Amino acid sequence: MDHFLYRDGALYAEDVPVADIAAAVGTPFYVYSTATLLRHYQLFDEALEGTDHLVCYAMKAASNQAILRTLAQAGAGMDVVSVGEYLRARAAGVPGEKIVFSGVGKTAEEIRVALEGGIRQFNVESEPEMEAISAVAQALGKVAPITIRVNPDVDAKTHAKIATGKSENKFGIPIARASAVYAHAAALPGLEVVGIDVHIGSQLTDLAPFEAAYLKVADLTEKLRAEGHDIRRLDLGGGLGIPYTRSNEAPPLPLDYGALIKRTLGHLGCEIEIEPGRLIAGNAGLMVSKVIYVKSGEGRDFLILDGAMNDLIRPAMYDAHHDIVPVVEPEPGAEPQPYDIVGPVCETGDTFAKGRMMPPLAAGDLVAFRSAGAYGAVMSSEYNTRPLIPEILVNGDQFAVIRARPSFDEIINRDTIPSWL
Ligand SMILES: *Cc1c(COP(=O)(O)O)cnc(C)c1O
Repeated sequence: MDHFLYRDGALYAEDVPVADIAAAVGTPFYVYSTATLLRHYQLFDEALEGTDHLVCYAMKAASNQAILRTLAQAGAGMDVVSVGEYLRARAAGVPGEKIVFSGVGKTAEEIRVALEGGIRQFNVESEPEMEAISAVAQALGKVAPITIRVNPDVDAKTHAKIATGKSENKFGIPIARASAVYAHAAALPGLEVVGIDVHIGSQLTDLAPFEAAYLKVADLTEKLRAEGHDIRRLDLGGGLGIPYTRSNEAPPLPLDYGALIKRTLGHLGCEIEIEPGRLIAGNAGLMVSKVIYVKSGEGRDFLILDGAMNDLIRPAMYDAHHDIVPVVEPEPGAEPQPYDIVGPVCETGDTFAKGRMMPPLAAGDLVAFRSAGAYGAVMSSEYNTRPLIPEILVNGDQFAVIRARPSFDEIINRDTIPSWL
């Protein structure tokens, strides 16, 4: 559920007509709904009611500080995967003790910054990383709280590029080696082992892989406790999927996910952390774009938009489907026709949809890509020297530009020409 609905024939973001934003900032742009962000955060928070828990928003999904502050003010912690994200979360006002640091390649410098600034825990992904964290902590006279990410070898049944919980993936340590690795961690002077971490992938549309993974984590908790480790915190990762089409998909609800967590792990008395990203931000954002041309081709018509793969790469990268809707609601009798919907970038990969049934559209019409709030703006680039598109946050009847479109001068002046030229 989201807050992007038609009213009197016009698409609104909460109480703001999307066309008004387009008139103010130009196209293309991203627009997020505060009410949708908060609702999705609250669904997770309520799903874990009755257990000691923290919802750590995986900020790589959408990392604008206005989004982070919105969620942090509601009580969210953050899951970060780089020191850049760590500093951004801090700048948005998130305290270090509510930030967990994930990722397979944390450098000594990243570890130092997080330890000095304050961190809830590092989610450690390998033995060399464990040694590096211990060494940095010791040099600073600190002790680093850690969990170790275990790879439970379950098939998340999602797109290959975003599955992370099979033994062939680069993430975590094999669960079969956990005893040895936890013993190693316990022997390192700069570490305090506080728990276990697991994250099996993204856009999961079935609870069964979560259940398989969490049952393994439950067994492992008891085993490690028997071996003398104080396992008191379980970080269960993110990954719950969202509907990308309005028609046929019904991914599990956070409430059912929470019930599964309580059922599989509740008896252990651990503090629970979860790291949802996509489900909080995905359906809280649109990418709005304008039709530049309608071009008739051989047996097909192309809608050429001013948005492109550099602005929203998910279709090109993950074969992702986004519902695309006109900003002016189609007349009831409008006969849909198939379009190939493309951007202006010089690659055939710059195709958002093929043969998509849409009401008749003309140059100048606005369209909105639904479910574009997660892994949209954050993955955009300036390929083809196309400026990063602005981000807008709506709250009730107000809206604000939360990242402005850079000028061409700003982009061009980032280059430096060496003295010999
Ligand atoms: C990407 C990621 C998440 C968030 O995944 P979503 O599918 O967006 O919920 C959480 N934890 C880790 C470690 C991740 O890498």
